[in-house]
Amino acid sequence: MALIIDIGPLSERQSDEALEAIYKSIHNHGDDDSIWNPHESPYIRRLIELFTERGLTRLEKVRTELTAWAEGERHRKGEPVARPKGMMRRWDKGELALVKLYLKTLPPEQFTLDDWGMVVDFLVQRYLPEDELRSEAEWLATRSGLMGKVQANMQKAPTLKQADRLLAAMPNTVKDASKQFKLSPVQYAVLDFGRARAAEAVTRLSDNVRHKMRDVIMQHEEQKMLNGGAAAPGSALKTRLLDEFAVLNRDWRRIALTEAGEVANQGFIASMKPGSKLKRVEQYANACSFCRKIDGAIVEVVEPSRPLKDPDTMVWLGKTNVGRLLSPRKRVGGELIERLPEERWWIAAGVQHPFCRGTWLNLIESEPEDDPDFAEWLRNTLEKK
Ligand SMILES: [Zn+2]
Repeated sequence: MALIIDIGPLSERQSDEALEAIYKSIHNHGDDDSIWNPHESPYIRRLIELFTERGLTRLEKVRTELTAWAEGERHRKGEPVARPKGMMRRWDKGELALVKLYLKTLPPEQFTLDDWGMVVDFLVQRYLPEDELRSEAEWLATRSGLMGKVQANMQKAPTLKQADRLLAAMPNTVKDASKQFKLSPVQYAVLDFGRARAAEAVTRLSDNVRHKMRDVIMQHEEQKMLNGGAAAPGSALKTRLLDEFAVLNRDWRRIALTEAGEVANQGFIASMKPGSKLKRVEQYANACSFCRKIDGAIVEVVEPSRPLKDPDTMVWLGKTNVGRLLSPRKRVGGELIERLPEERWWIAAGVQHPFCRGTWLNLIESEPEDDPDFAEWLRNTLEKK
């Protein structure tokens, strides 16, 4: 069934934005459950599951605690304490305890909007503290990147048990990775950029949690006020929170899949000699049409500094789809014209887009970097009884 939309009345920019949004929506896998399938790559599967599980546990805590506060379950009889002054963004342990005491002893019917804001800040800082989220992000990026190096040095994919053994022997931070292994400058950069990107993603998510929860509470209180002070049905708040957290859980899963996949692929390429041939693998449920099209593509690893690079047959470090467009056409005046190849998506070295699960496979014509120490570490770790 054809459904036709007329974008004639829009401006050029509005038309381009609308087209791009439609194309992207097809690729973002925002609305199917295949995002929860275990990752196809045995190198990073466990990492992704552990990272997901820990994040979802944190988010679940914020949701259930906020519900409990909203229902007055956290109230304890006692001498009310003065409202802590100022709304610092970060509280230290003592301040956090003081905030909790104030909120606990404040009778629920006396909560103002500011107090509710404080409950949200308290829960976010208690269960999603920035430094811990950053450590989680670094853990994911460092180990995923090192798994890329492992893949370059292995003839065939490890069993899950072998992957676990490797994980147990890997460091948690980029700094420790560079102490434990001889990383080339580009390998180090892959890990470090991966760490920074993942850290940005998790802190953005926790900011999102804060904003969304404040919105939910504000709306809930407004309804209550309009009801003449009678509590709006608690189930409405619960349902709204469940809906919001379902989205936040998916956001966390997106970070797990996308950041791990990106660093692992880039780490792999950073560990292959130029001239190596790789095969793209995009085989998983609900792969998008772009990824299905590049499945099986054979490409050569080249230096990023090489002047003439054929984007259809070559990959290099840093080749991404960030800032590129998916829609094949753009509007010029009253017409849609083909976009230039350099404006559009190409075969990126890492993942193609958020939620993408694509990986690389080494072919016979591929050679890992020379790093005998790493090869030996790999052998020893795998063979250890
Ligand atoms: Zn795709």
